[in-house]
Amino acid sequence: MIVVKNLTKVYKTRRREVCALNNVSFTLPDTGMVFIVGKSGSGKSTLLNMISGLDKITSGKILAGGNAVETMSASDRERYLSSYIGYIFQDYRLIEDFTVRQNVALAADISATKNSPDDFIRIVGLQGYENRLPKELSGGQKQRVAIARALVKNPKVILADEPTGNLDQSTTQEILQLLKKISKNTLVLIVSHNLRDADEYADRIIELADGRIINDISRIEGYTNKFSMQNGVIHLPHHKNLQKVEIGELLRRGKYSKGIVQNGGGFAPTKELQYSGEKDKLRNKRMSLKNIVKVFGIFFKRKIFSKISTVVMAAVILSVFYIIQSLTLYDTSSAIMDTLVNADTYGVIVQAHSGSSSTNKYVARISEERLANLDEAYEGEMYKLYSEYLYANPSGGGESFVTSAQNTIGFYSYITVGTLNTTKEYAKRVLGVDELNVLAGTIDPANENYRPYGVTITDYTADSIIARHTAKDPLYAFDKTTGELKSTEQLYSEIIGLRSVSYEKTYINAIVDTNYEEEHREIKDKISQLTSESNLEDIGTDPLYLAFVADVTERYNIGYSFDEGYYEALCEFLVDQAVNNDGVMRFSAFFIKDSKYSSSQSYVIAINDKYDLKDGEVVMSVSAYNTVSTTADKVNSANLAEKNEALAASPEKLGFAQYESGEVKEFINNTEISVSKLISGSTNYIYVNENTFRDLIRYNTYAYSVYLDNPAAARDIADVIDENKLSICSGLVGNVHFIERCINIFDKFFGVTMILILAACVIFLVSFGIKSIRSNIYEIGVIKAMGGIKRDISKIFISQSLLIGVGILISTYIGMQIGAALANEVFLASLALVADSNFYGIKAIAFYPLVALIDIGISLALVLISAIISNRTIDKLNLISILKAKE
Ligand code: ADP
Ligand code: MG
Repeated sequence: MIVVKNLTKVYKTRRREVCALNNVSFTLPDTGMVFIVGKSGSGKSTLLNMISGLDKITSGKILAGGNAVETMSASDRERYLSSYIGYIFQDYRLIEDFTVRQNVALAADISATKNSPDDFIRIVGLQGYENRLPKELSGGQKQRVAIARALVKNPKVILADEPTGNLDQSTTQEILQLLKKISKNTLVLIVSHNLRDADEYADRIIELADGRIINDISRIEGYTNKFSMQNGVIHLPHHKNLQKVEIGELLRRGKYSKGIVQNGGGFAPTKELQYSGEKDKLRNKRMSLKNIVKVFGIFFKRKIFSKISTVVMAAVILSVFYIIQSLTLYDTSSAIMDTLVNADTYGVIVQAHSGSSSTNKYVARISEERLANLDEAYEGEMYKLYSEYLYANPSGGGESFVTSAQNTIGFYSYITVGTLNTTKEYAKRVLGVDELNVLAGTIDPANENYRPYGVTITDYTADSIIARHTAKDPLYAFDKTTGELKSTEQLYSEIIGLRSVSYEKTYINAIVDTNYEEEHREIKDKISQLTSESNLEDIGTDPLYLAFVADVTERYNIGYSFDEGYYEALCEFLVDQAVNNDGVMRFSAFFIKDSKYSSSQSYVIAINDKYDLKDGEVVMSVSAYNTVSTTADKVNSANLAEKNEALAASPEKLGFAQYESGEVKEFINNTEISVSKLISGSTNYIYVNENTFRDLIRYNTYAYSVYLDNPAAARDIADVIDENKLSICSGLVGNVHFIERCINIFDKFFGVTMILILAACVIFLVSFGIKSIRSNIYEIGVIKAMGGIKRDISKIFISQSLLIGVGILISTYIGMQIGAALANEVFLASLALVADSNFYGIKAIAFYPLVALIDIGISLALVLISAIISNRTIDKLNLISILKAKE
């Protein structure tokens, strides 16, 4: 039973208000066929939509089976549509991808009945058509399916909005007869504008005009519509065109009749029913997994190309995001490590930071403390490189290697990099030889010519010495007594025992064979070609040349010592030499007062007993002292005596630094000397006792580089290297720093871009989600009108999003790897053009699987969030407009 009371519906549009229903009241019984008739626009459909609960009422009340439709919750409405209402549309609204049976079964599934779809297919006379698709049926057959679909739910009311509007006359009659049959047990509410059909089939007719009921009549029981004569009055049948015979009869009878009346339709004004107070239970049921999967299948294969392109687009967008992210994640020290590991070098060289440019290679000595920190962290062998250079230049001194190669000598060097105290095994690895093939001298400690403080040099260094000496004295290569050209053996043997000319520190024990000439023949030829053309300026950026320089610096131009006692022996040798040389030793040093540097100054450190100096105490000249003093502290002849009095009472501490330069403002060690007396004059002498002298020699002779034998392990000490202000030195490292600078330029830009990409991604995914819901709007409308549960529909869309998400996940993971590799190639190729350098073996854009996985996790979350956002549009769908028949 349905009670409609004072129902009013006003549609408010922007332009005007339309009162589609105006204070309508009536009560409908549990069975029977009720026609709602009226002109187009009179409010018929509106009335049905109100009763079905598909649209909200403006005021009034609808009680359906005792349930107030207007106040139902969303889930109650779903139950109401599923168990109380069976909706039949003018244009059938079947699911086109489902067969007849599947269409009916879906409705049965949603409702909580156990009805067999096949029974209802038989009731509507469609047995044998169960497996046909809607497109293989006629209009009448489709409407029968729609009726079966409405009936299978066992609804209390069938609502049919012009169900025969699209059908021909005879099919219309068949459908109406079917509905009439159904109305024996169910209330059938039909909207129609065909008054004849209403007359013929209706048990009750409610006529609407402008939203009001203008007529409400019910069929009189036992009434027959016949041509007859009763009590002298002629009764003409209702809606009947008279036949010839009837007209004749009418004329004949008319003579005797008291009058003529036309039969009514057999209807009388409806007597209002009394509400029985019953209450129907509303039921529904979740869709079965089978149907969910089936509907999912329809939805998923629809617009499959757009889905695939969404996956690809998302993968591309996210890969671009990843590439940018990878650039921002670029970490110089780990890039250096990676580069070294990838380059598979024989070792890693660690130096104290030098603040200077690459062409001006000042390197600071590494304090014992820093070395100890490094040693503790490093798992592998460490070999120290001491600053005992060997000058190839016969007059000593000279420029550093790089400049020399560019200028006069070209291919050969002026000066070795230093002395590496290492093992023979490591030297073999560095030099790339199986055996140390001694070309001259000895590497055997038992040999009488062997010196523990001496070094073994490579044939490259030996050839550099010969080249330098020949450049100075063209006759160097000739034996002065015989006038013959010296053999290589002879030239080499003359080098053995040579000491570095300038400070005479280094003693050459042996020359060993390398393959340097073979390896660098091409650049050697190029250098001599360019030298002859006086055109060497540009060679500094030639990749071949850079590789050559790196090789020479890191391998060939090093003095090697294989003696474990090298450092001690060297220090003692130097002390001896100084003592024998009037107790004087020169070196460039810095003294530091109040953390301020003196300007670079070459001091002469002299042992002097005259001043009776304690350990660590020095006496220095006023001018030497003034190099470390600020203007205010300057000492002159006027205040010298006063200053000396103060110093005698309390000696003034000075720090000692060695080869610290450029931007590195740090003590390399904590060594302090204290000035106890100043002497007038401008000598650069600093007087010390023998112990202090020995100490200063030791500090002066500190290692300044460390060779590590295991590049892979270098990764483990990256932090220690940073913390101790050390750095890895390699030809590749400069390029790594260059990349860092390039990336830093774009840092802010990257941040903004990443945010924009993420935002674009969210918008893209949400709009995709909404679009995909819109593309399935027809089925969603049908399923909802059948009483389908929104959660089931959501489930379908969320799992669709999940599946797409997984597709994005996989393709993005692959895309990121390929993208990173490609972008790296392109990026480095561009950098190589800009920097005119070679970036081989460096990874600027790396693939970090963990970061990629986190990104993908985030994007999966984005997909889900966008699915949830777009899912909300299901609630907002206007069912009425979806389900409205095309008029
Ligand atoms: P019928 O089904 O009898 O042809 P309707 O119930 O569809 O008539 O419409 C009744 C009146 O309400 C009409 O004037 C129509 O223009 C108006 N109307 C129906 N639906 C809407 C709507 N969604 N928004 C505004 N006006 C509407
Ligand atoms: Mg209508």
